[in-house]
Amino acid sequence: MAFLILNWLTGAAAWFWLIRRYDRIDPEPYRAMLSVGILGGLVSGLVALEIMTLFESMVLGMSEGWMTAVENETATITELIILALETGLIEESCKALATIYFAKRLGEVDEPIDAVLYAMLVGLGFAVIENLNYAIEYGNGTLLWRNIFCIPGHVGYALLWGCGLAQAWFAKPGRPVLVTIAPTLLIAALLHAGYDYIAFTASNAAITVYAVIQLVALLWYAHRRLKALGRESPHLALGECSACRAKNPRGSQYCAACGESLVQEFYNICAECSHRIPIHARYCPNCGANISNMI
Ligand SMILES: [Zn+2]
Ligand SMILES: [Zn+2]
Repeated sequence: MAFLILNWLTGAAAWFWLIRRYDRIDPEPYRAMLSVGILGGLVSGLVALEIMTLFESMVLGMSEGWMTAVENETATITELIILALETGLIEESCKALATIYFAKRLGEVDEPIDAVLYAMLVGLGFAVIENLNYAIEYGNGTLLWRNIFCIPGHVGYALLWGCGLAQAWFAKPGRPVLVTIAPTLLIAALLHAGYDYIAFTASNAAITVYAVIQLVALLWYAHRRLKALGRESPHLALGECSACRAKNPRGSQYCAACGESLVQEFYNICAECSHRIPIHARYCPNCGANISNMI
């Protein structure tokens, strides 16, 4: 039992440490990260479980529960496809809604990367709680697989719609959040469903190959995206390059030290006063210059 708890906590702590490393310019406090991750994971996990149980018994008529149906091979192909789609859509939507609810209330969302960070933490919290459930049911052996493949799966899917959330909060604040995140949420849900369907139906060897490919792809994409987003911040000094942190003279549009553009995905540079301003701003909040006239 002690080994199981150690194994379980190691998986959670290792991924938490890895996620936090990317938040460099203005790191979020541990208290906020832990409370959003734990509360968001717990609430989204419980709500998702409740909705899925209702759906399975009322719509699919699977009163025995899907796990038993899959194990006993009593579920049909259509049922398995519906089960996979249901899991992907409901779990990702619940995680996203929990992130939207808790991140702004308990976190300090002031940089685009914060949206992605809290999304991943809710994904981590969700996976860690789910892992405990599986560990109790199937024992310690299942935890190693889940720590290596299922946690990054949940975190990686969350990163996808987390990027949508960063767009919603920092680039398109006038638009309903759910409209902006819908495409990325759908992609995450379909990837999640695809993995689950393969896990339900394929041989152990095929699942392993698929899980390794997905893990490498998600890690590669997450690393690239987080590195880029980690540089987007309103906390940089006037003329400071987000790539190499060199200080540039007023009016610079490119960094004199490394050539990187000072205009970013989420932040523009005011041509009048050189202040870093949100990409959606029509007037410079610092000097009042009309930004649309400059382009
Ligand atoms: Zn530079
Ligand atoms: Zn200005």
